[in-house]
Amino acid sequence: MAKNSSSNSDGLTRTACPYCGVGCGVSVDTTNQNNTKISGDISHPANAGKLCSKGMALADTLTLNGRLLNPVVNNQPTGWTEATDLIAARLQQTIDDHGPDSVGFYVSGQLLTEDYYVVNKLIKGYIGSANIDTNSRLCMASSVAGHKRAFGSDTVPGVYEDLELANLIILTGSNLAWCHPILQQRITAAKIQNSALTVVVIDPRQTATTELADIHLAIKPDSDSALFIGLLNYLEKKQAIDHLYVFKYTSGIEDAVHLAASYSEDQIETETGLGSGQLNQFYELFRQTEKVVTVYSQGVNQSKIGTDKVNSIINCHLATGRIGRAGMGPFSVTGQPNAMGGREVGGLSNMLAAHMELDNLNHQETVQRFWNSPNIATRPGYKAVELFEAARTGKVKFLWIMATNPVVSMPEANLVKESLMRCPFVVVSDVVNNNDTLRHANVSLPAAAWGEKDGTVTNSERCVSRQRAFRPLSANAKPDWWAVCEVAKKLGYDGAFDYESAADIFREHATLSGFNNSGTRDFDISACGSISNKEYDSMRPFIWPWVKGDKRKTTRFFANGEFYTPDRLGRIIPIALETNAIRKDQRGLVMNTGRVRDQWHTMTRTGHIATLSAHRAEPFIELSRQDAEERDIREDDVVSVLKGDEHVLLRAILTDKQRPGTVFAPMHWTDTHASFARVNTLVSSAVDAVSGQPALKMQRVDIEKYKAASYSYVAIRDKSAADKILEIQRNDLLDKPMYWSCAKVSDGWRYDMASQLTPYVCLQYWRNHLDVNGTEIAEFEDQKKGEYRIACYRHDRLEAAVFVSANPVRSSRHWVAAQLKESMPVMSRFQVIAGATQGDKPDNGPIVCSCFMVGVNQINRCLSEQQCSTVDDIGDVLSAGTNCGSCRGEVQALINTYSAKDSGEAWSGGSATTCI
Ligand code: SF4
Repeated sequence: MAKNSSSNSDGLTRTACPYCGVGCGVSVDTTNQNNTKISGDISHPANAGKLCSKGMALADTLTLNGRLLNPVVNNQPTGWTEATDLIAARLQQTIDDHGPDSVGFYVSGQLLTEDYYVVNKLIKGYIGSANIDTNSRLCMASSVAGHKRAFGSDTVPGVYEDLELANLIILTGSNLAWCHPILQQRITAAKIQNSALTVVVIDPRQTATTELADIHLAIKPDSDSALFIGLLNYLEKKQAIDHLYVFKYTSGIEDAVHLAASYSEDQIETETGLGSGQLNQFYELFRQTEKVVTVYSQGVNQSKIGTDKVNSIINCHLATGRIGRAGMGPFSVTGQPNAMGGREVGGLSNMLAAHMELDNLNHQETVQRFWNSPNIATRPGYKAVELFEAARTGKVKFLWIMATNPVVSMPEANLVKESLMRCPFVVVSDVVNNNDTLRHANVSLPAAAWGEKDGTVTNSERCVSRQRAFRPLSANAKPDWWAVCEVAKKLGYDGAFDYESAADIFREHATLSGFNNSGTRDFDISACGSISNKEYDSMRPFIWPWVKGDKRKTTRFFANGEFYTPDRLGRIIPIALETNAIRKDQRGLVMNTGRVRDQWHTMTRTGHIATLSAHRAEPFIELSRQDAEERDIREDDVVSVLKGDEHVLLRAILTDKQRPGTVFAPMHWTDTHASFARVNTLVSSAVDAVSGQPALKMQRVDIEKYKAASYSYVAIRDKSAADKILEIQRNDLLDKPMYWSCAKVSDGWRYDMASQLTPYVCLQYWRNHLDVNGTEIAEFEDQKKGEYRIACYRHDRLEAAVFVSANPVRSSRHWVAAQLKESMPVMSRFQVIAGATQGDKPDNGPIVCSCFMVGVNQINRCLSEQQCSTVDDIGDVLSAGTNCGSCRGEVQALINTYSAKDSGEAWSGGSATTCI
């Protein structure tokens, strides 16, 4: 394999962040082998040197702890030859016995484009099936479908620079401040530069993003399309349609406007839950502002009407001609770092390579001719939900999963688990050695991790960046493309999969993009088709298209039409107002799922990093005070969230930020970090009929208090000791569900538990099974209140602190956990047992800024004692928000809460940050 290096004279390796679709450039300094330094790449167009909290913590992921380092067959380590022999044999056998459609691949937006390309080539061109889908189906399939309906191609028309050039930015279905923090920072900076810039956030919840907005439209869940249908009607009524653009470049306006006009303003108000004043303010703002960008993300896509929502947004931009010019356009931002690369190579089951169509005979012939392949898929394969259903019902008998954890991330996640248990042969490629999906693998393959991988990724603005290796492959880990090619060659396809490097694959991919194209397809990077290995190594980020022989022209699409439909006209799609059946159902509460700021997907890469776990350490659910009161749920109770036979146990956070009738739960927690916290086990597998994307953000659930006899909190140095004691308790509880979750802290772990064990019995488990040899023990008990505490010290170090109570433990968890790294003189040990702090060891409270570990209490002290009144004031005193900036929304929320209290307005009494 080619050794990768930066060609830069400063000795830094320039690569790309592996987390979200912003696609930030990262500079890696490996001068000191034992201390890799990570910083933002100042030359990268996406982030200009900035990184968010996850990006900043990338160096902590460079560990062999928890890595899968060798192929494993039926739980036994083995070599690559044996593993790939077995995979090829089972793959061939399955095809021979049951046909090409009996095999399937489920891949990921984490893969590099080169990995994606070869796996897609293998199944669609050689096996002859389209049974490959990607977890991007869960993320942005509705955007793809909406783009294709409107533009005839899956094209993102604009670029990030439009955020700086706009005068109105609308964020809908997007908690940008947490999910795409660097884009949020670009908007925040743009607001400082441009006083005319207005930011509108459309979201049923109050989030860190809404804290930074000028206008927050708290619509009812899933009513975005109603809002934009109303906007189209308003634009027509106010004669704000750009008839010149519409006439020259689009079709469908009459029908779309006619349908929109059939809904009364009252209907739009009822659907969205907004008053006429709010609607008119927003509509008028849109009408008057030419430079408008509408950014949307999973809140739009993950819906049964996701594609309609996308087209309702695009309609308003096409109708006003606000597309493809500086500072304007609809803008889908992707969740994953290479969701766009996956779309380019045809990683979805209904696409061919290079943005070609599966159901287009000309495209089938083009791809097959280019690949010179024996087969070509001619009809769409199973989409994600269908694929696992097919595995469960025996239609798919061979499944290869790469770089994703569907047992957590898919809807009806327990059915997915069942699918894997029933599927005769499951291969899982991953970098970690233990996750919820790997437990069901017949063969586990060790994949190259970030820092070892070499290839390209494409971010949300079509910018192709190199992800470069700066470390050797660990043990027997290999790039995914290499593993796929080994199997392909063993199936007899030697010549077609004989790549020596990622550069070979990239050149082929780039050449295919220009093959038989002549401007008929948007994706064309044929200028890269013959680059040398050296040029590939030193390639700078570029925004496609980049056509061979052409000078770089515009980087935006559709200012002058030239859509990719047969008649080259864009389509304005009539969108019907759909009253969401789930919303109409009055039973239970509507659950929205999403992400927290510092965790990534199913925590496989971020869950072991103390700084990232400090922000949200437990699986939780946010619910309104009204809904909590009706259910006798108090702050910090553990609650059961139920749907049918499924349930999860989560910590309750009572908040004013949630509309009554709705709740929010993050999707990150897995069986590795908690007992029952895979929230997607509750979510039905209902999908958007056009895109096949699951409606992950809207599920009716019931919530009830989990009646625990005891609550425990443990900060401990030795994780294995805690796991052992937890296991004993679980066994003794038999079938009674127990709540537990664990999170990494510096120098140890923290555990939170609740169960049917009485506090005294619970305490005995810890007292009897903790290894206290050579330790000094301090104890406290109040039998009347059911409160027990133990702290064990070895020399001047705290080994474990155990708090057991009949009620949720109120001691400052963050402070207690922080004492694991402190030296504890005898005189101050009482503080741990007291669970209270004193002057020399102040309690900073739950962490808000993970770069400088600044807590809620510190910020509140600054507000009350130092006359700070802005985020920058807080930054000057505490540094919070001055590095990655991801916490600025939460700091602003604390300021807002403090100001409301100070001005005598009703104060919720809570902090903006959970106390868990
Ligand atoms: Fe990585 Fe954060 Fe940039 Fe996303 S915003 S690419 S997670 S540094």
